[in-house]
Amino acid sequence: MAKFVLIGSGLAGGLLAAYLGRRGYDVDLYERRADPREANIVGGRSINLAISTRGIHALEKLGIADEALQHAIPMRGRMIHDKSGDMHSASTRLGARGSTRR
Ligand SMILES: Cc1cc2nc3c(=O)[nH]c(=O)nc-3n(C[C@H](O)[C@H](O)[C@H](O)COP(=O)(O)OP(=O)(O)OC[C@H]3O[C@@H](n4cnc5c(N)ncnc54)[C@H](O)[C@@H]3O)c2cc1C
Repeated sequence: MAKFVLIGSGLAGGLLAAYLGRRGYDVDLYERRADPREANIVGGRSINLAISTRGIHALEKLGIADEALQHAIPMRGRMIHDKSGDMHSASTRLGARGSTRR
């Protein structure tokens, strides 16, 4: 069976490694940064971790969406405020769009 060597364990690398591992492939995953669970990282102010519908779907396929969402907020859409003050919403779940005047 093929072996995969992945460089970079960001969101995409970690997810791909998990998918390949679930399919039984041998995967080596390299990351140049320290493991954030072990490194003594002093973070600044931060917004909450948000996971989009697309991300939730990807995690559901691994069976870990519920666990991940205990530490994150679901991001089901976005709101764009244009220069005139109008707001345009887009649902990432349904692809629906709507506009609102201020
Ligand atoms: C401040 C901030 C907050 C964010 N908040 C959210 C959020 O709440 N929700 C959300 O969905 N998205 C968020 N994002 C966006 C999200 O972080 C990116 O969309 C996502 O990380 C992209 O994933 P990626 O795997 O493509 O790249 P990356 O996450 O950048 O992963 C690439 C990895 O490859 C490693 N790498 C690169 N070169 C090498 C090498 N030569 N050898 C070894 N390793 C290497 C890097 O160290 C890195 O870990 C945020 C981004 C920022 C900057």
